[in-house]
Amino acid sequence: MTLEIPYHLENYIGGNFIGPLSGQFLEGINPATAEIYYQVPNSNEKDIEIAVNAAQKALPGWSTASTETRFRILNKIADLIDEHLEELALAETNDNGKPLWLSKQVDIRRASDNFRFFATGIMHFASESHSTTGQDAINYTLRQPIGVVGCISPWNLPLYLFTWKIAPALAAGNCVIAKPSEVTPVTSFLLGRICKEAGLPDGVLNIVHGDGQSCGEAIIKHPLIKAISFTGSTRAGERIASIAAPMFKKLSLELGGKNPTIIFADCDWPKMLKEIFRSSFGNQGQICLCGSRILIEKKAYEEFKKYFTEITKKQPVGDPLLDHSKQGAIVSKAHFEKVMNCIELAKQEGGSVVCGGKAVKLEGRCANGYFIEPTIIEGLGPNCKTNQEEIFGPVVTLQPFETEEEALQLANATHYGLAASIWTQDISKANRMAANVQSGIIWINCWLLRDLRTPFGGMKNSGVGREGGWEALKFFTEIKNVCIQY
Ligand code: NAD
Repeated sequence: MTLEIPYHLENYIGGNFIGPLSGQFLEGINPATAEIYYQVPNSNEKDIEIAVNAAQKALPGWSTASTETRFRILNKIADLIDEHLEELALAETNDNGKPLWLSKQVDIRRASDNFRFFATGIMHFASESHSTTGQDAINYTLRQPIGVVGCISPWNLPLYLFTWKIAPALAAGNCVIAKPSEVTPVTSFLLGRICKEAGLPDGVLNIVHGDGQSCGEAIIKHPLIKAISFTGSTRAGERIASIAAPMFKKLSLELGGKNPTIIFADCDWPKMLKEIFRSSFGNQGQICLCGSRILIEKKAYEEFKKYFTEITKKQPVGDPLLDHSKQGAIVSKAHFEKVMNCIELAKQEGGSVVCGGKAVKLEGRCANGYFIEPTIIEGLGPNCKTNQEEIFGPVVTLQPFETEEEALQLANATHYGLAASIWTQDISKANRMAANVQSGIIWINCWLLRDLRTPFGGMKNSGVGREGGWEALKFFTEIKNVCIQY
């Protein structure tokens, strides 16, 4: 099997590759070159209807298939992703703008890890039983597949996050209607080919492409789709919750963030400086977990600023296909403009640009691409828009603090609560901070160190529910308690 990318991508429904019923397509653009190189279906409720029919037809077979069958097929999908790593990584980079080395080292490997992890997980998934003493009774709890479920993912980690949802949903015995971001659909389209080759029965996974309004909302509104796992912006999450809640759908919402990186003067400086560029600007700052507000103990502020600026200036922004490019393109023209406007706003709010702040003009192939310098801004208080609203690009702010209490106050001073990283060698201080920072994920003296068994997700406006490990398998199953008196 070769993974060719046709000019017109198609939906994968009931095991067939078919165009959108409306005949409507959206343009697919390589953000590093600004070239249109494919068209992606803009599907609507009619396409979702046939996808749900296909899923309903496949459901009895898949939901009762032995755990070993699901384990074997999901592992086969993981093996095929690994086999096609080079093609998938190139497709991801051309679609998203991230450096090719990053697609290879992180995104595509993680997609196969997701399938392997949940294929294995389902083999060990157990439920509880309770012996009710004095009543001669025993209760046991069933965790059954929900039925047809919807998975909707964003553009920043396209195949990585798409598979993070699909793999547990399938492992738990559900049939899936999945929609990747319309901005980066290519690797999800290719995943359809891989699933077919791996022997996943037709209709078990249906990949439908399109924008949020016509395709995404059709998934949310469909009465036979019983649970929704969504990753994306808080704005879209709010809209989705407003539609799904009155229908009593099970919802998992992984939303935006405005994460603090808290640096105390007593931290391990070489280790912190080694991570700080990645935690601030990794994937062009387009990771929901990136620390976009850096809080630094005042006595170390100037020294930190000096080192951080030196490091940042040494990280070349360039053609994502070249090994030495540490930063690639911003995902789209619209997002490029949004980030540039945020930098302008930061200046209007009184911030000063310590380094970066400008678009990068490259020569040759990438002359028209969307590139932005990694940007550090200082001089802004916690309540301005720049420190309150998610930018989701290569832009961070610096804020000094004097005491642990002030650090905590600044860390918690937004409506978001996704992730935080804390840098100190004082273990008591680190644990006190971890207990009180309002975030679903805390890293101490590290960042984005992932163990797929751990609960993943945010509090406050960063979401509802958790993914990862047993949490994901629990989300994708319906609980039923059975009580027997003997
Ligand atoms: P987005 O909300 O615009 O879109 C995400 C997905 O939802 C896309 O597939 C889109 O088509 C779809 N969508 C949009 N509106 C919809 C609607 N009304 N109904 C149904 N579907 C709809 O987000 P984005 O710009 O693609 O991604 C960036 C955002 O994702 C950032 O806010 C980032 O923080 C967040 N994110 C969060 C996590 C996390 O784990 N918490 C991870 C990655 C990204």
